[in-house]
Amino acid sequence: MRTILQNGRIDGSDATDIVISDGAIEQIAPPGTVTAEPGDETIELGGQLVLPGFVDGHSHADKSLWGEPWVRRGSVAITMDQMFDDTLQQWALPQASIKERARRFLEMSVAAGSTTIRAYADVAPEIGLDGVHAMLELKQELAHLADIRVVAFPQLGILRKPGTEELLEEALVAGADAVGGLDPAGVDHDALKVLDIVFGLAEKYQVAADFHAHEDGELGVWLVDRIAERTRVLGMGGKVSMCDVFALAQPSPDQFAHLSSTFADAGIAFSIGVHGLLPVPDVKGLHEAGVAMCLGSDSSRSLWSPWGDGDILSRAMMMSYKSYWRTDDDLELAAQLATSLGRRALGLDARGVEVGASADLVVLTGEAVAEVVVQPVPRSLVFKRGVVVARDGALVADDVPASRQEPVSRPRRLSGR
Ligand SMILES: [Zn+2]
Repeated sequence: MRTILQNGRIDGSDATDIVISDGAIEQIAPPGTVTAEPGDETIELGGQLVLPGFVDGHSHADKSLWGEPWVRRGSVAITMDQMFDDTLQQWALPQASIKERARRFLEMSVAAGSTTIRAYADVAPEIGLDGVHAMLELKQELAHLADIRVVAFPQLGILRKPGTEELLEEALVAGADAVGGLDPAGVDHDALKVLDIVFGLAEKYQVAADFHAHEDGELGVWLVDRIAERTRVLGMGGKVSMCDVFALAQPSPDQFAHLSSTFADAGIAFSIGVHGLLPVPDVKGLHEAGVAMCLGSDSSRSLWSPWGDGDILSRAMMMSYKSYWRTDDDLELAAQLATSLGRRALGLDARGVEVGASADLVVLTGEAVAEVVVQPVPRSLVFKRGVVVARDGALVADDVPASRQEPVSRPRRLSGR
């Protein structure tokens, strides 16, 4: 059986018909030229935009309090110590299980169009591997909705929390897809030792490595250089990524030139931080230098941050707004970072809506890609491997035919829509 999408406008171009078979795009043809055969399903898109499925390269679903009663946030200090304290307090809150909360957040992320998600699972002596096990179970249970990669993440540091190194290794034995590090210099105060641990585990278990890096200025530049050295020596180009990287937020021209060429040459991908606190890095400059980049929902509705709803198109909007991007070319780049370029940053097939590519698609109303970046309207349809998994901003039940799918009994609509 095939699914024929009629009159869709791929990335805002002229209307075409898109034929999906076995989860992949089989044919792209002028409107009305594909003849439906018995058993084929046709879906009329009426000129809506068709984009590749979105990529969330930095999701802390395990920390989201989505669906829980609102918690008043009162911590004022913007410091790592305060964030650690909030994290510990959140773990102690009476609340639904990590798995239940993460499921809610991931389902909402899919309803907003994310079909590929890199999710960080906190690892620390205080919670052991509860987060890792929850996320690995969800990776399996939600495989029909999104490809989920799980990063074992030392949210409280590695050296400052004895026992964390052993837990990270147990997480990899349990099946985590990558090993993470947090501020090897700024938090753990012995960057080289942390890099020994993280790269050592990555090499031993043949997994990717990822670093959150809130070190700025010269220390941040020094840290990127050390990570790049290890990446090169171990031949791990394309398997190392970094998030936040405050050194990229306000660099000198020389620092920017050095950092962008180092990222590109070493094959380190960058998950763009869109922080209220700091300027967005020079994304266009990084792109021109050849740095692989993605967007991420980051810590959304945790005890630390009330912001975020898992909507990567909204992140693209915020990034564009903070960067004062106005031209269609720039806004189209923002959409690509949310889609095909984001897939490239995760080392995946970077094809867009093309013959042979997986039919991970997002359909939404708009005249142009730039328009939906500046005004992220609800997603009409989300396809994962050719199957409709969300409609009008809510997941669909997966046990009824696509032609009469309705929202699940408890719709999880996108906030504010
Ligand atoms: Zn993060």
